Amino acid sequence: MKPPAHRPSGVPPGLRRAVRRLLLAVGLAAASLPAQENAGRSTPTRPGGAPPVAAPTAPKAAPKAVAPAGPAKPAPRAAAAPKSGEGKIPAAGAYVGAREISRVLKAASTWDAGKKQLTLTVANRRFVLEAETREAEFDGVRVFLGAPAEIRQGELAISKIDYLRLLTPAVRPGQGAGKPPGLKTIVIDPGHGGRDTGKVNARLRVLEKEMTLDTARRLKVLLEAKGYRVVLTRDDDRYVELTDRPAVADRVDADLFLSLHFNAVEADVERVTGVEVYTMTPQHQLSANRQPDDQVAVHNPGNFNDHWNAVLGFAVHRDLLAALKVPDRGLKRSRFAVLRLARCPAVLIEAGFLSNDAEAARVATQGYRQQIAVAIAAGVRSYGAALAQARANR
Ligand SMILES: [Zn+2]
Repeated sequence: MKPPAHRPSGVPPGLRRAVRRLLLAVGLAAASLPAQENAGRSTPTRPGGAPPVAAPTAPKAAPKAVAPAGPAKPAPRAAAAPKSGEGKIPAAGAYVGAREISRVLKAASTWDAGKKQLTLTVANRRFVLEAETREAEFDGVRVFLGAPAEIRQGELAISKIDYLRLLTPAVRPGQGAGKPPGLKTIVIDPGHGGRDTGKVNARLRVLEKEMTLDTARRLKVLLEAKGYRVVLTRDDDRYVELTDRPAVADRVDADLFLSLHFNAVEADVERVTGVEVYTMTPQHQLSANRQPDDQVAVHNPGNFNDHWNAVLGFAVHRDLLAALKVPDRGLKRSRFAVLRLARCPAVLIEAGFLSNDAEAARVATQGYRQQIAVAIAAGVRSYGAALAQARANR
């Protein structure tokens, strides 16, 4: 189960009202949209058509970073100093075309007019973008763009935000980004705990909070064996506030934040299985479920690492799928509180559907949880390799 995407208390009411007025102005009022957050996630996601609304244009007076710390808490140590700096985010309406993309990324490109697909090839890896959909294929895995690709001026074009904050990090880690972050201290966040059970398969008595904790402990052992310093946000069955979880990462000056969850749907339980991986939604974009929220225009702490979030999410998603061989639910974006508030590169992993009895039964075995932990550890290693490559290219 996902934590709530946003936490009202983090934003001053005045700002919230201003953002809501802005969203209303660009036609993003919640009431005008199909408000099907769960359905949007639970359907085997293939948002083929254009979204119901145009992406919001960048507001003239976009608020700067909003300090998210709760009122009673001291500001986290790293508050003013993100791990890496990235340039100004482009306006949502700005697009960049195939010729420019392949030139800057030094990619060979082919255009299939029938399928409306552009294929970029870099070192035998293929990145396929398709017109009129947000769904893309990066090196064999599903990835959801923040806005649909389009045909503009006779060529395929994607939103400049997707180009800079998703495609570029996947194809050329580090290109155009600041200094690559380190990778020494890793915080693992076992989702839920205590009175918050997370998702439950009552038939099989499988509780998300128990599955996440056990998987986190296994992952800790694997990562420590590789020399990382590892801290858990909880190491027993206790309730931890969402906002306190990224605060643990602040406290230990973490380089990486991994939030572990298991998923569930209410309908279609027989059919929906597999893995999805989330990173923070870039400013001015809608999350994968297209649910507008009052954070669209806000540059959150999690946005300081858009580039490295994408490098991380792509690495972890690819390695999870390679190891588990389960349906690919896609690399997606969302403004979950833990991702929104994380000041280091962060990812939220939904490692399986407890609503599906067969998958829940597998998750309930120690062997499968070990496989999940091994796959995530491999993803961390791949991310580390991408950081090393980025450093070498500087
Ligand atoms: Zn959860």
